[in-house]
Amino acid sequence: MFGQMMNFPLTIQSLVDHAARYHSQTRIVSVETTGGVEETSWGQVGANAHRLGDALTQLGLEPNARCATIAWNNRRHLEIYFGVSGAGLVCHTINPRLFPEQLVYIINHAEDRVLFIDRTFVPLIKAIRDKIPDVAHIVLMEGRDDELAGEIEGLQFYDELIETGSPDFEWPEFDEMTASSLCYTSGTTGHPKGVLYSHRSTVLHAFASNTQDCIGFSARDVVMPVVPMFHVNAWGTPYACAQVGASMVLPGPGLDGPSLVGLIDTSDVTIALGVPTIWQGLLGAAAQSGSELTSLTRTVVGGSACPPSMIATFRDTYGVEFIHAWGMTEMSPLGTSNQPLAKHLDLPLDEQYKLRENQGRPPWGVEMKIVDDEGQELPNDGEAQGDLLVRGPWVLSNYFRKSIEGTLTDGWFDTGDVATLNADGYLSIKDRSKDIIKSGGEWISSVDLENIALGHEKLADAAVIGARHEKWDERPVLIVVAAEGQSPSEAEVLSIFDGQIAKWQVPDKVVFTDVLPRNATGKVLKRNLRDTFGEVLIE
Ligand code: AMP
Repeated sequence: MFGQMMNFPLTIQSLVDHAARYHSQTRIVSVETTGGVEETSWGQVGANAHRLGDALTQLGLEPNARCATIAWNNRRHLEIYFGVSGAGLVCHTINPRLFPEQLVYIINHAEDRVLFIDRTFVPLIKAIRDKIPDVAHIVLMEGRDDELAGEIEGLQFYDELIETGSPDFEWPEFDEMTASSLCYTSGTTGHPKGVLYSHRSTVLHAFASNTQDCIGFSARDVVMPVVPMFHVNAWGTPYACAQVGASMVLPGPGLDGPSLVGLIDTSDVTIALGVPTIWQGLLGAAAQSGSELTSLTRTVVGGSACPPSMIATFRDTYGVEFIHAWGMTEMSPLGTSNQPLAKHLDLPLDEQYKLRENQGRPPWGVEMKIVDDEGQELPNDGEAQGDLLVRGPWVLSNYFRKSIEGTLTDGWFDTGDVATLNADGYLSIKDRSKDIIKSGGEWISSVDLENIALGHEKLADAAVIGARHEKWDERPVLIVVAAEGQSPSEAEVLSIFDGQIAKWQVPDKVVFTDVLPRNATGKVLKRNLRDTFGEVLIE
């Protein structure tokens, strides 16, 4: 027997319609690619999403046709998120930092029919236009620009396109399991793999983000996603903000520290989200400008491990609550976030602070376990380290047009991360499984070593790899970038580990370099470092 409640599909268009109806005056601030800051509202974004949905439908696109974006975080991109998915099409966000060959691969693999681009990327698309024949419409996300019109044959203009649509356009009806958006992982090996989200998974993910122990946006927040809209839908921020009618500040192309500090201060941002490297720039700029980041109450940081020193600076210098979160493209991305339990509130402050350093615990909807090499579940005691497996309604069940075989077993997805879990479900990521250092039978977490090294005031950046060793198989080598104007000695660098870890875990060597190689989403390319420095311990 079924229950007798309405079968009301969970769809992305219902989110923007809610925001446009009940929060129509709420501000959306957008830094434009042409320069300047534009202010609109959820009411206008909603109306334009309908216009766009209508315009795309009139183009005669098939249901589920992929409409790609190569764009910064801005107002038109927000409208595209809702207008494309709402019209029953798939919003495919593309990372512009990929190599051109990867871009060509992704666009062709997805069979993108429409490509929305910011002006920054006109040269990029011009160069690969011949190699992406399935793309029927290239739309510049601006009003008409006669100069750029000649750059790409048939170039269309967003503002003109949406003028052909009506704000009263009625969304088509479809199942909540319908595909809504597509994002490719920026893997470090092989071709990128596509993750195809559904309306249902996206709405449930927004619900989870909006629980108080996760992020919990509200209609009183001014939210600035610095995490790009081309990276896992800016962690789902646009959907979660629409769901509660939060105001948004979209920072456009300028992601440098001074620009971000300026935006936070002029737009009264209350909550900002991004990866640790971005916040490093922001903290530097805030210190230099003397800004106290007065409006900022919370910051959500994830994508790679956060050095505890950064958490402390936000807390102690700026009074900003730091929420450390973990997730991945395959999980929409939210997996865990670090919020305390009631029993933690009576602990001494330094113990409470320590507890906020790990990646946190899962919301309802994410199930996790750690297993050994034989797939046997390991205890959740905060000590045992194993491969982290997950499942839930916003975890992928297959890659787009590619087999997931090997990473999905008995309904559990293998994250590729090595972690510990404690009895309350708090997750501590130790490494990517391929990056963990195996030193004579013992495991050393490169993340733990990096976190300590990054607390060194004379270092700007640090990464640890397992270098080949004749006796121990692998030993840790620390690769560092000195802070501006500093040139610490090897002994000075290594002294930071004194008393913090066991002696046998201390890196065998320090290598100084100018810059660490990173992939398109800002993660350090350990494989490149291993290629370059993997033999430095061999005589
Ligand atoms: P991506 O799919 O590009 O977002 O990458 C996901 C991977 O980033 C995860 O599997 C982790 O290895 C890493 N990651 C994400 N968040 C964190 C975090 N808070 N701490 C450590 N690693 C993280």
